[in-house]
Amino acid sequence: MIRNNYHTHTFRCGHAIGNDEDYVMEAIGLGLNTLGFSDHVMLEGIHQENVRGDYLSREGYFSSINHLKDKFRDRITIYLGFEAEPFKEYFMDYRNLLKTKTIDYLILGNHCTIENGMIYSFFGRNTSVENLYKYRDTLIEGLKTGLFSCIAHPDYFMDSYFKWDRHAKRISKDIIKASIEYDVPLEFNFALIRRGKTIKGKESRYGYPFIPFWKLVRKYHAKVIMGLDAHAPEDISTYKNDEGYKLINELRLNLIQTLPFKEVK
Ligand SMILES: [Zn+2]
Ligand SMILES: [Zn+2]
Repeated sequence: MIRNNYHTHTFRCGHAIGNDEDYVMEAIGLGLNTLGFSDHVMLEGIHQENVRGDYLSREGYFSSINHLKDKFRDRITIYLGFEAEPFKEYFMDYRNLLKTKTIDYLILGNHCTIENGMIYSFFGRNTSVENLYKYRDTLIEGLKTGLFSCIAHPDYFMDSYFKWDRHAKRISKDIIKASIEYDVPLEFNFALIRRGKTIKGKESRYGYPFIPFWKLVRKYHAKVIMGLDAHAPEDISTYKNDEGYKLINELRLNLIQTLPFKEVK
């Protein structure tokens, strides 16, 4: 069993539940060695209710997780991070957070884009062919910054794009190759496995992981890290019975146990 998880949310984003310490207790109960908190990044000037916490909740997040780091230091290693979109408007902010060691790491979750200062394309909703390429391009721009330690749910676009056509294959290959080139592991995400299969076009499947994508990942032998994407304390404790773990083994992915964090000087 893998004993490190770097993808954990908190109530601050508005769509996760439980208090911070409950996640830690579940992780200790399960025997995890590492628990990384990576709540949706709170951004100055951006309000997205039930998506990310308000910017004002940042300090409370930092102090709560830092307090838990200290309190449980003999029992588990806790890291403080964010799941952040590759918004170029905020690269300086991200860089500062890492440089000042305010946070330990960032994971790249490409959920949407900003255009003209507004949240614009949502890659999880009715993704068009045009949006697929936008998803790829913004994601790869993010990798080039050297700020992100892994790519959360890289196959996110397949939750709302139902054809494994030449476009989907093209961008999948480009993302996998960029993951290798910039040495940023791909995260095999458990969130929608917990939700179960749903009808996507003509088939019943998970929104992600999308299996043909992961077969390509194996073919290229890219590095993979597993991520629980926990939104409730029990998402951690139920992991050992999870279908996702079986899938990782069946796919014979090049799994790494520990996520090296990118450093900014
Ligand atoms: Zn995400
Ligand atoms: Zn997440």
